[in-house]
Amino acid sequence: MSESAADWELPPDLEAVQAALIDWYEADHREFPWRDTDDPYAILVSEVMSQQTQLDRVVEAWDAFLERWPTTAALAAADRADVVGFWSDHRLGYNNRAKYLHEAAHQVEDAFDGEFPQTPDALAELMGVGPYTANAVASFAFNNGDAVVDTNVKRVCYRAFDVPDDDAAFDGAADSLLPDGKSRVWNNAIMELGGVACTTKPSCDEAGCPWRSWCSAYATGDFSAPDVPTQSTFDGSRRQFRGRVIATLREHDECEIDALGHRIRVDYSPDGDHGREWLEGLLADLADDGLVEYGDGVVRLRR
Ligand code: SF4
Repeated sequence: MSESAADWELPPDLEAVQAALIDWYEADHREFPWRDTDDPYAILVSEVMSQQTQLDRVVEAWDAFLERWPTTAALAAADRADVVGFWSDHRLGYNNRAKYLHEAAHQVEDAFDGEFPQTPDALAELMGVGPYTANAVASFAFNNGDAVVDTNVKRVCYRAFDVPDDDAAFDGAADSLLPDGKSRVWNNAIMELGGVACTTKPSCDEAGCPWRSWCSAYATGDFSAPDVPTQSTFDGSRRQFRGRVIATLREHDECEIDALGHRIRVDYSPDGDHGREWLEGLLADLADDGLVEYGDGVVRLRR
């Protein structure tokens, strides 16, 4: 992977990269109830609860919390001890978060006339709301956020586009990737990619990652990442050769099958163990996944 900022750049067809991820996300994603609302209060509660607790458990607590205190006005009017008690009963981690949430509800009611502020900077004035949470609420409630840069997003950028392990580089890449005016869907989509496909052990093909034809890690078989420091166990595997096929076809548009074989492995010989039969098996999988077309001895990327 790249070590310096000079070695990386985003693909020139950035709009296609963006559209591919949004299409992938919109076709299928994990359902969480807070993804179906644009109520900033409900979203803030989900964000605060998710900081320490597995998402599956948050769903039940989030429902119960909002049933009991459905608005900032209701929460502000509650007894703080009851809010903290709820937090403990649902094992939601540090009780300070419950106190901050209660305080933030007071702020919204008293300092903002019951209306949530809508920008990341203004949201960060609320008690216990750091830059990450402020940006998440601005994105998901108001479609008004900046690019989210969390561990998942860093891992994706590092693998897909060789972005070096450097906070400024990650910020720059995430900003450039974010399509204008689409922070709600984009931040959900890229976090989903890191959460279900580009995980520490990526499932590029199984999850149908929409960035395979651009992804540097997929092409080289090196799936290390800042939070996955060890060299990939996929080296030499079928996955790596699939990646090499894609990378070669990106460079040459189309290839005669044996020429492709020689380009992707030094020990290729048409009739050998890793010969045409082996390569045709690989191409059949790639064709099933909709990535390549193969006919009359010629292979090309499916566009
Ligand atoms: S192809 Fe694999 S490594 Fe690359 S971004 Fe997709 S899931 Fe991550």
